[in-house]
Amino acid sequence: MSNSYVGRFAPSPSGPLHFGSLIAAVGSYLQAKANQGTWLVRIEDLDPPREVAGAAANILTTLDAFGLHWDRDVIYQSQREPAYRDAIAQLSQQGLTYYCHCTRKQIQAQGQFYQGQCKHKKLTAEHAALRLTTTTPVNYFIDELHGKIEIEKALAAEDFIIHRKDGLFAYNLAVVVDDIYQGVTEVVRGADLIEPTGRQLYLFSQFAQPAPSYLHLPLVSNVDGSKLSKQNHAPGLDTTKTKTLLIEAFKFLALPVFNALEDLSIPQLLQWGTEHWSVKNLPRQKSIVLGP
Ligand code: GLU
Repeated sequence: MSNSYVGRFAPSPSGPLHFGSLIAAVGSYLQAKANQGTWLVRIEDLDPPREVAGAAANILTTLDAFGLHWDRDVIYQSQREPAYRDAIAQLSQQGLTYYCHCTRKQIQAQGQFYQGQCKHKKLTAEHAALRLTTTTPVNYFIDELHGKIEIEKALAAEDFIIHRKDGLFAYNLAVVVDDIYQGVTEVVRGADLIEPTGRQLYLFSQFAQPAPSYLHLPLVSNVDGSKLSKQNHAPGLDTTKTKTLLIEAFKFLALPVFNALEDLSIPQLLQWGTEHWSVKNLPRQKSIVLGP
């Protein structure tokens, strides 16, 4: 890879960063820096009801405390609505979208996946979701760490939502429009987002844009197997322990840590991490339980 590499970290401001988000931040940062690339931060504040007041600013302050400095201005999805509208217009002009009035309950009553019930009904926009017709399902992709990832046939074929009934833009649409806009060449993120990658690849192809490569890092999970997340109230990162936590993150990402690292400063630690970063040594599990 050359220095045209562009990576990113794209947190949703639904709470403070926790150890799981630190792994995604550090992993995407080190991979970008090890490729002499650019590392960007995008705040995914697309869903106001799930947003926690002050979380976006808190996330940026926390990244800063960990020495994870972004290389260009931060972008906020809440300010990108015109771009999402244009993208939808582009897909609609190609005859690829349709309105759907189905409720989740109605869909579930007919099976696990949506079967295109509204496709030819020419329904109105009122109280409707907008779906994208899947003409060429993405049945697999190559993950840089996990290799070939197959996507369940029915899931890959589903006409998915790009604009929600409640008026919000769907995550898959926004993430692709923004990855194109920011020129992202590789997405490094948690393994919980392996599944939607097929949909995102489909969107890249519909926008006739080259897709980035993907690397999904193991998730940090609780002893009960659930993902460490803002929703299940994972504790926010303690910014008085940045060095210790950074070294813990390195350990999780299989860097060859040793005791004397404690003597390095944060910038020196990140430099050391960049020099010792190795995708091929990363753990291949999709999720790892944190030790005591
Ligand atoms: N905003 C998403 C999250 O916080 C991540 C999106 C992505 O990396 O594609 O889980």
